[in-house]
Amino acid sequence: MSKLDNFISYLLGNDKQKYDTVVIEQDVVDEIMEISRKSYPDEFVALLEGKIKNSVLHIEGLIFLPGETSSEGAVMKIFMLPPMSGSIGSVHSHPGYSNHPSTADYQFFAKTGLFHMIISLPYELDSIASYNSFGERIDFNII
Ligand SMILES: [Zn+2]
Repeated sequence: MSKLDNFISYLLGNDKQKYDTVVIEQDVVDEIMEISRKSYPDEFVALLEGKIKNSVLHIEGLIFLPGETSSEGAVMKIFMLPPMSGSIGSVHSHPGYSNHPSTADYQFFAKTGLFHMIISLPYELDSIASYNSFGERIDFNII
């Protein structure tokens, strides 16, 4: 961590929310794949529920928002929401084969949450990518 990163963390109040490992419940991953398939060709978006303990970010569930699917870019629908308690990040689907963040996604990641997932077609485990708030790719483990 550079001094600048530390300063940014301080400004964001993230200094007590550091993690070096991410674990996700199998049920949550299954639910993400199922909802993505059902929503297609629309995008779906949900917030991730979880907590950090001993530098491990543990994702335990999804928090759904009203009108969670959209043909116009799901992320834009939650862009303006204030941070919600219990939410540590987000997940959304892309109706194509790219799980790379869009420009809007990068802006959203930087603004809200610590961990973000994007799932693309064909909505399998291999098509899930996860990112930190800087839009940098990070891994997760399924438990
Ligand atoms: Zn996106």
